[in-house]
Amino acid sequence: MNWDDTPEEAAFREEVRAFVRDRFPASYRPDLEGEQSLEPEDVRGYNWAADRAGEDPERRDGARAWAEALAERGWIAPHWPAEYGGAGLSALEEFILHEELMRARVPTVNGIGAFLLGPTLLVHGTDEQKAAHLPGIARGEVTWAQGFSEPGAGSDLASLRTRAIRDGDEYVIDGQKVWTSLGQHADWLFVLVRTDPDAEPKHRGITFLLVETAAPGVTVRPITDLRGAAPYCEIFFEGVRVPARDRVGEENRGWYVAMSALGFERAGIGATIKYEQALHDLVGYLRSEEGRGLVRTDRGAAYRREIARRHTEIRVLYNLARYTVSLQAAGEEPGFEASVNQLFSAELHQRIARTGAKAFGRSGTLWDRSGAPLNAAFTHMRRDAIAATFLGGASEIQRNVIATRGLHLPRS
Ligand SMILES: Cc1cc2nc3c(=O)[nH]c(=O)nc-3n(C[C@H](O)[C@H](O)[C@H](O)COP(=O)(O)OP(=O)(O)OC[C@H]3O[C@@H](n4cnc5c(N)ncnc54)[C@H](O)[C@@H]3O)c2cc1C
Repeated sequence: MNWDDTPEEAAFREEVRAFVRDRFPASYRPDLEGEQSLEPEDVRGYNWAADRAGEDPERRDGARAWAEALAERGWIAPHWPAEYGGAGLSALEEFILHEELMRARVPTVNGIGAFLLGPTLLVHGTDEQKAAHLPGIARGEVTWAQGFSEPGAGSDLASLRTRAIRDGDEYVIDGQKVWTSLGQHADWLFVLVRTDPDAEPKHRGITFLLVETAAPGVTVRPITDLRGAAPYCEIFFEGVRVPARDRVGEENRGWYVAMSALGFERAGIGATIKYEQALHDLVGYLRSEEGRGLVRTDRGAAYRREIARRHTEIRVLYNLARYTVSLQAAGEEPGFEASVNQLFSAELHQRIARTGAKAFGRSGTLWDRSGAPLNAAFTHMRRDAIAATFLGGASEIQRNVIATRGLHLPRS
């Protein structure tokens, strides 16, 4: 397939590059000591949701100024219609926009709201819900987190037990969510709750609700991971009252709303550029005076072949992402193709981390960045990559989707 830019696409790419040069706030510098956000498309050194709400005035003002600049163009939610604050870009233009932001190593803004909830509301929301929620996301002023998983319901999401009981014009929620990425920085949550405990099959008794994190009875508790960062939270609901107008879709039909949200999640352009940059940095280091001689000469040829394999796999991932986007451009919703993309990307993330760490021998275990070769980039990446094969759905589950929906194999 030929992915070369058309003259219009090339002009748009130039426009994005010029925009970043002119508008990215110089004072909003990456924090290279901090831990990487685990969201696959976050740029190293930035965590926009945390920066925007953080203590450091320079980062806070930078994050807000960047959001304002993107919002002026409708580029926080580039694929949404202009009436809700988007730019009405095509799937391919949106792809180019993100590719260029990643290449420039500047953060995307409000990803969960713009790329998960927004498209879901555009398909399933009422006009009132769209008018109430979409503009705030597109301006970068209101942030969201996804509350689906629970301690006993991850891959088997339909087993979720957080309960909502209808009481007049409200639902009353009790229960617990876990793994809620960026939950501690979110203004709102979109959650799945059980409204019919006797439903068979179980997924027919689930409803999709929008809940303000500031609502009485919501407790957000950040979870510290093995790196010492807190990328996600557990969230407790105790008698939380939510107006019925904040239900998306019909009662007990929330599963279908959630499935299209997850389809949007897997349809992202992938972390290709981030991997490309990591491999580029590794090769650059191994060629530098400091890094030369790190890989023993007798292992050099085999190691070069390993790097070449990673390079080829990154190109494969790029092609998978372009293919998924070309389906969207043709008006189709990515199905199992998005699972292929997600699975390949997650496992490649782990392979790149291992390839990189291998070059450093024992110093590949140094955690402290100062003084470590290449600032311990691959020691950290190995830890960051552990979550990759879980966070957008576990690899086994992605393989099941590909087997049944893609290859039409029998379920058992
Ligand atoms: C970094 C990170 C961020 C996350 N962010 C969010 C978020 O923002 N919002 C949210 O709602 N959730 C989030 N999650 C949760 C994520 O969706 C779940 O971790 C994932 O769905 C797996 O569920 P689980 O952790 O309960 O593992 P389990 O489902 O208990 O799986 C454990 C193991 O069993 C295997 N397994 C389970 N069922 C099957 C099966 N049928 N066939 C074969 N193997 C199977 C799995 O593949 C896995 O290896 C996040 C997770 C991580 C790690």
